[in-house]
Amino acid sequence: MNELKKCLKEPIPEIFEAAKLLDDAVNSHLIGDFMQAEKLILKADMFEIRAWTESIWGAGGIYTDLKKKLGEPETFPKELRAPLRMPNKTGEAALLKRDGFNCSFCGIPVIRKEIRVYLHKYYPNALKWGKTNSEQHSAFQAMWVQYDHIIPHARGGETNLENMLITCAPCNYGRMNFLVAEIGISMPNLNKIISNEWDGLERLLNKKK
Ligand SMILES: [Zn+2]
Repeated sequence: MNELKKCLKEPIPEIFEAAKLLDDAVNSHLIGDFMQAEKLILKADMFEIRAWTESIWGAGGIYTDLKKKLGEPETFPKELRAPLRMPNKTGEAALLKRDGFNCSFCGIPVIRKEIRVYLHKYYPNALKWGKTNSEQHSAFQAMWVQYDHIIPHARGGETNLENMLITCAPCNYGRMNFLVAEIGISMPNLNKIISNEWDGLERLLNKKK
């Protein structure tokens, strides 16, 4: 029996570099240096990050392999699933307060959609966000906050604090409806708050008020 891993695929250093660039971009934005902010956002959109995410959820990636090996997990009929699929705003805030702005599995910094939408209005060309994966900024895509079910909702998991955690998009979409144990991943310790400087760029919205 193999040892359990903490995530599907170890994150690459470029993600942390992109987080630093975006952090600097927000600093520039907040002092009104919009040109510099735009430059930094553009720089954070790295080819290596897209390659990493695609190797997890893309065609021929880890998720495809899992499905081939294990078959599609059986899901509950809709009427037997918890009525609420996603948490409300209060539930989201409670999860972020508990887990912080880092993926509970792989540990990469994460950013809420609300922050992305806010920045996109200022920098639509640097922070591109089209319909397909390849038309989306690679760092904002990988670092997109997910309110992820531990036992998948489609398999009877509840939408509550006990059954949910904060993850990044690749950890969420790379696992989909598999249980962590099924794919050889260990359950993260939810009491261990990762304390670091990363604030999910939240100061951007706090400042606005
Ligand atoms: Zn992750």
